[in-house]
Amino acid sequence: MQGCTACGLSRHRKNVVIYRGARRPRLLFLGEAPGAEEDESGLPFVGKAGHLLDRAIVELGLPDDGYGITNVVMCHPPGNEFDPRAAAACRPWLELKLTWLAPEVIVTLGGSALHALEPRAGRPLAEAGHPRLWRGRPLYPMLHPAATFRRRAFRDQWERDLERLRSMVDLWMPGFRSCSSFPARGLTPVGSPSSSVAFK
Ligand code: SF4
Repeated sequence: MQGCTACGLSRHRKNVVIYRGARRPRLLFLGEAPGAEEDESGLPFVGKAGHLLDRAIVELGLPDDGYGITNVVMCHPPGNEFDPRAAAACRPWLELKLTWLAPEVIVTLGGSALHALEPRAGRPLAEAGHPRLWRGRPLYPMLHPAATFRRRAFRDQWERDLERLRSMVDLWMPGFRSCSSFPARGLTPVGSPSSSVAFK
């Protein structure tokens, strides 16, 4: 992967941003593409949006050896413009990562990540917080954390979806969460997960 030149993004990148997390993650966060800070560091989600994601992971109580983070596209696109041609070129790598990592649950972050797996899915805001099955495993769409900096409504949606994800994780992977620091500020605790959760 480090030497890949399969698309034009290879001409601009400093690093191929592959993955950070556990060798065998049970839950995988899938974002869109690395930003400038990720390009510098070679690690996904290390900028401002990454800090919000890390805080969410702590609040969820996910164990360090239980989750991983990657993107649909592994090289930084100039201007942070998501490029569908790069996503298509990077798709074999994404498939390899999914095969090697074999997560039980996938959480997509943003519309481009969701549509990479589910091309027929609706708008990100409408789909966020509504789990579905993807290749036999739960897929939970969320907004991209960077979106939460743009509008208060997106931040509220992010927090609601995060709270629901906690319940979903308990339902899908009982005992997986190592601790619970929820509820975060301003969030209302939720009850036990319902067994009647419907997938799309
Ligand atoms: S974005 Fe993906 S396909 Fe394009 S050069 Fe980087 S690793 Fe290769």
